[in-house]
Amino acid sequence: MFRIRALLILLTLILFSPPGLRAQGLDIESRYSPLNRRRSPRGSTEYIILHTTEGGGRGSLEKLRRFGEAHYMVDTNGKVYRIIERHRIATHAGRSMWNGRTNLDNVSIGIEVVGFHDKPMTSAQIRALRELLRQLKAIYRIPDNRILPHSMVAYGTPNRWHRAPHRGRKRCGMLMAREDVRSQIGLHDKPRFDPDVRAGRLVVADDYLERTLFGPSAPAAAGAPAAPAADNVIARNRSAWDIAREQYNAPTTVYEFPDGRVQRGNEITNWNIMPPGTIVRVGAGATVEQQSESERVILLGRDTPSAREFAGPAALDEKTVYFLPTGEVVRGSELTEAQLDSLVEGTGMLVGYVSGGIISARRRAFDIVGPRWNLATTFYRLPDGTVRSGEQINERNIPLGTEVFFQP
Ligand SMILES: [Zn+2]
Repeated sequence: MFRIRALLILLTLILFSPPGLRAQGLDIESRYSPLNRRRSPRGSTEYIILHTTEGGGRGSLEKLRRFGEAHYMVDTNGKVYRIIERHRIATHAGRSMWNGRTNLDNVSIGIEVVGFHDKPMTSAQIRALRELLRQLKAIYRIPDNRILPHSMVAYGTPNRWHRAPHRGRKRCGMLMAREDVRSQIGLHDKPRFDPDVRAGRLVVADDYLERTLFGPSAPAAAGAPAAPAADNVIARNRSAWDIAREQYNAPTTVYEFPDGRVQRGNEITNWNIMPPGTIVRVGAGATVEQQSESERVILLGRDTPSAREFAGPAALDEKTVYFLPTGEVVRGSELTEAQLDSLVEGTGMLVGYVSGGIISARRRAFDIVGPRWNLATTFYRLPDGTVRSGEQINERNIPLGTEVFFQP
């Protein structure tokens, strides 16, 4: 009798569950980004990048949709949303490098998990992510050691704290490197070292992250170093960058000094005298992953008091581009120290960018930067001096003579 009842219940569940769930074991719904149709198809798919939203589900979904920043989002209740069709490019990895290859958006699928890089997923999320990964692995034949947390592939350009290109720009998705978590989501292999650090292309800017990503076991295991306490308090060995990363000088990042004064990141002019004990609060709007500071045009006077303050030694790098109010475009390497210090307010600045050349009748934007031509991280300097991102431009009427800048 009991068996028959159980069978009946099972039958009811099967008959009345939505078709997606029945067919694939996944509760999935399409909530495509308005940018979806504009995104080019990817040439190949070699990686899956796992992210944590660092914020709540509803706000994250809206933001991810608005900017087309993931293919999928896995909510805390196990519900999965499609945001960008899986064969198109989503802009989720930002400035990224793995094994010498950059711009991993071109060759990867991005999954955002609602939650935090250092907090466990819900059991519903684990089940959903495991099934989603199982399906994608089967479709694209991606081995487990190419399913990587975002923090493993993100890298930063030189700044005032780190003089070399570095790993550690983000801790996004960090928990997805832990072996216990990986085995829960059906992954049984992971990279054992950082190929870009080993090859000297990058340096390590976050030791704790490095140990978590490539260590043999979960940091919680006996003998392993624990997460640093007082996560958001500046100490002698814990800088504003360590806490807020590239949001350190954003207006949404608030500093509470030991003497009671409060200042926003964009109001601070001297980062050398940040007293230990200062509490750093990264704004709620900024905790959801957002475009890194080095991936947009920084305006002197508005976003930073000076180029040197923003970029440190990289201010004089050949991959730092300045758009002068006079209309001139110069590279950091073309400036003397004195010229650097006399750049005026309103000068635009891109860090970690190169020029792809000038658009002509025979050389269109796509010929220069390929499928990245219409992304928010590609920039166009029009002949009239204005600078637009790829998202703000229409390929049919980019004026001839426009110069294209992209991340190499
Ligand atoms: Zn991420």
